[in-house]
Amino acid sequence: MKIITTIHEMKGIIKSKKAQGKTVGFVPTMGYLHEGHTSLVKWAKEENDIVVVSIFVNPTQFGVNEDYDVYPRDLERDQMLSEEAGAEYIFHPTVAEMYPNGYQTYVEVFGITDKLCGASRPGHFRGVTTVVNKLFQIVAPHRAYFGLKDAQQVAVIEKMVRELNMDVEIVPCPIVREADGLAMSSRNVNLSPIDRQSALILSQSLMKAKEMIQAGNVEAKEIQRAIENKIAEESAVAVDYIKIVDFTNLEEIDVIKGRVLIALAAKVGNVRLIDNIIMEA
Ligand code: AMP
Repeated sequence: MKIITTIHEMKGIIKSKKAQGKTVGFVPTMGYLHEGHTSLVKWAKEENDIVVVSIFVNPTQFGVNEDYDVYPRDLERDQMLSEEAGAEYIFHPTVAEMYPNGYQTYVEVFGITDKLCGASRPGHFRGVTTVVNKLFQIVAPHRAYFGLKDAQQVAVIEKMVRELNMDVEIVPCPIVREADGLAMSSRNVNLSPIDRQSALILSQSLMKAKEMIQAGNVEAKEIQRAIENKIAEESAVAVDYIKIVDFTNLEEIDVIKGRVLIALAAKVGNVRLIDNIIMEA
């Protein structure tokens, strides 16, 4: 396991691996790895000869009053976890390496980035698509692995790759949860023990929605209201949004039909959490 900090060295390694006929799997992350991340590394390892994990807390995807400064970091632990999961390289550039003085180039997907998290975090997805684009140029992977924990991010990246004719296969991977249902997130470490308990209401509300749909309820409004009511049981949880959308275009729907994304975001204490389920109906 090697940690690479420069773009030049990373590109050189990829070039020589590809010259040997090796396939490259890539897992972009912001670090402070957990089993959600390592599951992506394991998927990547199954399908590729070498796996690169990037660890870069990307400043351009954080708003001014967001948690860039308190985003958790622990490179030593990340190195151990990546290696255990089967990665060969960590790409860990500095901010100056990725965005040198005078940097002015951005990549933006319009439309679907205005919805859900994009509505509450203006500029967030522009930061995501810009950094993912740069990382794809540097690592030039055959396949890149993204978690459906960030379902909108998957939709945005898939659209960017399709519309910019990029030669990379995007592989969406399932959400990994704690035993009690909380979706794993690097941000969970910033929850107080009481808030950690309150946060369980998020996955519980989604499980309730799932049960309603499985019982035959197709009324999106009713399901949305049931989620709202369930979350209202926890006064420490402030909902940002609860949306039921068609996963192909992220448009809100009235009737549960096709591939449906039920997504929510909420603040628990100072920590913004997201969770979702995808239902096929
Ligand atoms: P992050 O470090 O939060 O930017 O996440 C890096 C990648 O890991 C993204 O593709 C996330 O969707 C994915 N990821 C984060 N949490 C989970 C989880 N609980 N289950 C599956 N994938 C996840």
